[in-house]
Amino acid sequence: MVKICCIGAGYVGGPTMAVIALKCPSVEVAVVDISEARIKAWNSDQLPIYEPGLEEVVKQCRGKNLFFSSSVEKHVSEADIIFVSVNTPTKTRGLGAGKAADLTYWESAARMIADVSKSDKIVVEKSTVPVKTAEAIEKILTHNSKGISFQILSNPEFLAEGTAIQDLLSPDRVLIGGRETPGGSKAIKALKDVYAQWVPEDRIITANLWSAELSKLAANAFLAQRISSVNAMSALCEATGADVSQVSHAIGKDTRIGPKFLNSSVGFGGSCFQKDILNLVYICECNGLIEVANYWKQVVKVNDYQKSRFVNRVVSSMFNTVSGKKIAILGFAFKKDTGDTRETPAIDVCKGLLGDKAKLSIYDPQVTKDQIERDLSMSKFEWDHPVQLQPTVPAAGEQIWDVSADAYEAVKDAHGLCILTEWDEFRKLDYQKIFNSMQKPAFVFDGRNVVDAAKLREIGFIVYAIGKPLDP
Ligand code: NAD
Repeated sequence: MVKICCIGAGYVGGPTMAVIALKCPSVEVAVVDISEARIKAWNSDQLPIYEPGLEEVVKQCRGKNLFFSSSVEKHVSEADIIFVSVNTPTKTRGLGAGKAADLTYWESAARMIADVSKSDKIVVEKSTVPVKTAEAIEKILTHNSKGISFQILSNPEFLAEGTAIQDLLSPDRVLIGGRETPGGSKAIKALKDVYAQWVPEDRIITANLWSAELSKLAANAFLAQRISSVNAMSALCEATGADVSQVSHAIGKDTRIGPKFLNSSVGFGGSCFQKDILNLVYICECNGLIEVANYWKQVVKVNDYQKSRFVNRVVSSMFNTVSGKKIAILGFAFKKDTGDTRETPAIDVCKGLLGDKAKLSIYDPQVTKDQIERDLSMSKFEWDHPVQLQPTVPAAGEQIWDVSADAYEAVKDAHGLCILTEWDEFRKLDYQKIFNSMQKPAFVFDGRNVVDAAKLREIGFIVYAIGKPLDP
């Protein structure tokens, strides 16, 4: 029986391994983590992350061929294939701070693998890492290899949060990069055999290690660039009377462009897009490719600009001050169908409004008060971009915000309502009831283009929607 161990039981490690266990009943999968709380949650009825379909898959496999454990070293030493899916955040201090990937967790995992291994291992980079990371990992693993062979593969994960299980069950592609040596080819085949249990052969593609590593950064950079492109257009639409949805529809009909990922919004978030682009920027700078670095930097700058544009629109529409006014925030997660708030645009928008002394009432179906508390108290890490969000956020104790049990409670007596996440339930709200319970004039600021602006205007709302003609 092939034994797989995954180091890191997070948003990637948990769902990915659950699907491997589901599709490969003859493989034993152990997911390990240094966070005992996370492992405890994976073994409980309250999984540590929310993903549609995840609970069913975990419940089907847990205790059979899927195990969540804190015994990291034991499972690593027993495994044939070790996935490393630890976090690789942006460095916050020292060389490359604000751009480079922090590989502290990766290095510590690699050192532990080297220490505890007693048999040959395939070590798979599942985390998103800078191109050439495998070279460093090889040095760590083989430094004192005790005659053990380590083969490093790059197998970046392309799942999107909110659709992770669907993406894993039916991936557009599985990418496996390895050394072009007999050992490398054998390792690639072993990993291919795992995925081949459910992924069609033409969707499993192989590459050299550096292409595979770089492809993940490139994919996220292209996706984020697409969002910043449409968001840049949304600003121009607002200035000219064009409608960004109509522009997206028109350009998306061009088969060279395609219709997907052309929705304008308050900005992209999530733990990956910004982090991976900054990482790309750093790699370009390290290679002396300054103009290329500047090109990718602009994607993040436009994203920051979009968030500050939204805040400015809220404040300027509400007669240039929101001081003491209640504003309802509907949606805090960075996208629908997830409870993840990492780098969510809601953080910057809320901080901007709190900076202008608004009173916020926040509602998100999957985000807890503790998460919001943590997010709003963290200071934004500034890197060298000139676009400043509202700089004067009141000290934590002076901030006035609370969390509501539902959307109707959040909007009661509010002067304005901001939609920051595209949860389906926000499309179905009774907006007449909401209008009746709000202060007048009642403002709606739709950061995700989920409401029917014309209908809301008929009710009496003043509506601002991203990239749409302003209230007539
Ligand atoms: P996460 O923070 O949710 O999970 C990482 C886990 O690794 C944590 O639970 C942490 O405790 C654990 N960990 C860290 N060091 C460890 C060690 N030495 N031993 C055991 N456990 C350790 O992160 P994530 O969102 O799952 O992302 C993991 C990687 O996958 C990142 O590189 C990310 O860029 C990449 N990725 C993320 C997504 C996504 O949508 N979240 C998609 C594709 C790729």
